[in-house]
Amino acid sequence: MEKDSRFLSMIFDNIRENIVVVDAESYEILHANQSFVDTFGVPLEECRKKRCYEVTHRSDKPCHESGEECPVRQAVDTGRVSRSVHVHKDATGGSRTSRLTAYPIREPDGKVLTVVEISEDITEEVKLQDEIRKKSVFLANILKNSPDGIIGNDSSGNIFLFNEAAERTFGYKAAEAIGKIRANALYPPGGAREVKEFIYAEGFGGCGRLQDFETKILTGTGKLIPIRLSCELLHEDGQEIGTIGFFHDISGRLALQNHLEESEAKFRTLFETASDAILSIDENGMILMANRTAKDVFEYPGHEIVGLDVRRLLGSGQDGTWEVLAGYALPSEAGKYVDSSAVSRSGKKIPFHISVSESTSGGKRFYTAIMRDMSQIKAYEEDLQILANTDSLTHLYNRRQLYPIMQKDLDRAIRNTIPFSVLMIDIDHFKKFNDTYGHAGGDLLLAGFADKIRSGLRKMDAAFRYGGEEFVILLPETTGQDAMVPAERIRQRIAGSLFPMPPEGQPVSITISIGISGYRNGDTLDDVIRHADLAMYAAKNGGRNRVVDYDHLVRTETP
Ligand code: GH3
Ligand code: MG
Ligand code: MG
Repeated sequence: MEKDSRFLSMIFDNIRENIVVVDAESYEILHANQSFVDTFGVPLEECRKKRCYEVTHRSDKPCHESGEECPVRQAVDTGRVSRSVHVHKDATGGSRTSRLTAYPIREPDGKVLTVVEISEDITEEVKLQDEIRKKSVFLANILKNSPDGIIGNDSSGNIFLFNEAAERTFGYKAAEAIGKIRANALYPPGGAREVKEFIYAEGFGGCGRLQDFETKILTGTGKLIPIRLSCELLHEDGQEIGTIGFFHDISGRLALQNHLEESEAKFRTLFETASDAILSIDENGMILMANRTAKDVFEYPGHEIVGLDVRRLLGSGQDGTWEVLAGYALPSEAGKYVDSSAVSRSGKKIPFHISVSESTSGGKRFYTAIMRDMSQIKAYEEDLQILANTDSLTHLYNRRQLYPIMQKDLDRAIRNTIPFSVLMIDIDHFKKFNDTYGHAGGDLLLAGFADKIRSGLRKMDAAFRYGGEEFVILLPETTGQDAMVPAERIRQRIAGSLFPMPPEGQPVSITISIGISGYRNGDTLDDVIRHADLAMYAAKNGGRNRVVDYDHLVRTETP
């Protein structure tokens, strides 16, 4: 008997699970194996004085009173094996999850007086399960919240995974997709086959993978949507078991890209066809980009202008330097044109209107200069100026110009006592020519007369058509007395010339009467002109074809 008991004890002690024999009524421990003793760190003799919950739970209340089902009690109550899981406190004070199995031991009379409880440590298992559960919650969350659509299908194409983003893109629910449709229904005809071919091809992320592949899918409403797709074959034990794909709708991006390309093309056309020269310049003044007009105007074909210092194109005049022009790039000056000039490659000076604006890109400052070639306009302006200031028949200054131009001489005379004088010229008996050759003939005579006058003058002199056949000549830096020489020369030159008259070009000669008025201190412009007029009339009265100096007239009239 003793031997049997020791033998049993030895068997118990070699079993890895904890085994404890408990009194069915008092829960007192009758026996425990070594494993139990080791787990709870209570020697067998002490265990035998305690109740099972005192050792395993370190509690003074039986489990059922603490709200936990007691396997011992259940085994006793039901007479059957009872199973449950308890969390025990081990020798180190740590938690130990135990799967308990309680066996009721029946006495010959059928009564259960003892219960054998075997407990298996499942702490690691529970922990693992917990981790797996956490991970799958985590994965479920990823699937749910992923902005990318995620779809899984088995090797026959049956869909087993269809996340919320996929639902949004395709317009149907996971429940309508999973196990109901096949993957090739997600693509337009031929699309699925193409994707599959590319998965197996080497070039798109390696065989078995597809990376950033752009294709189209077919939604529930029959719409085609462009997507970017990455997918991978799934394997289990070396066997291909399906495919998982990640994708997102790129229609927005494509629309944006199209829009960008369109506006870029529009900008290009505008840039290239602009009649203004347009330059893009970096903050150091280097030309980065130039349109066709710029290349033409500055005479730099191809890309030769790119990389050039803009200072080489711009004049070195006070307002024309790049530094000054860049100063106009302020937003407050935006759209303002500044008068400047530039020099072409062959050295041609080109007047420009230039507008400079400044922008930043990638943290760097650069400028855009829009330059309008003003040569043509300048030439027109000059023509217009001449037209406005000159008489169309004689091409001499018209009467409007007389006072403004004389004013400068008057100013110099007052300020610096520099003399000037004026000749008043009237053609003698002009009416006679009109009567003989007609008004057109008279006009021709006036034009021929003006040419003669003009060619006989110094550069600083100016000739004006004052009236019908009356002319004024302004002689700067010339006293009235000195004016006699050119006046006489003019008179003789005219008298000695022949003018061809229509219709046969018959030559005629004319004479003129000239009055000289030298500026006298205190004279107004009106005085100067009036005096010239008086002298001219004196010349008429004196017999015509002669010159009279107002000074002389005054002197001879005042005794
Ligand atoms: P006088 O020697 O006194 O100056 O005699 P005149 O005939 O020249 O007389 P006056 O200077 O008073 O007359 C000028 C004439 O010139 C009057 C007008 O018919 C003519 N005349 C004025 N302007 C024009 C013009 O633009 N074209 C032509 N063909 N004739 C003009
Ligand atoms: Mg006259
Ligand atoms: Mg006349």
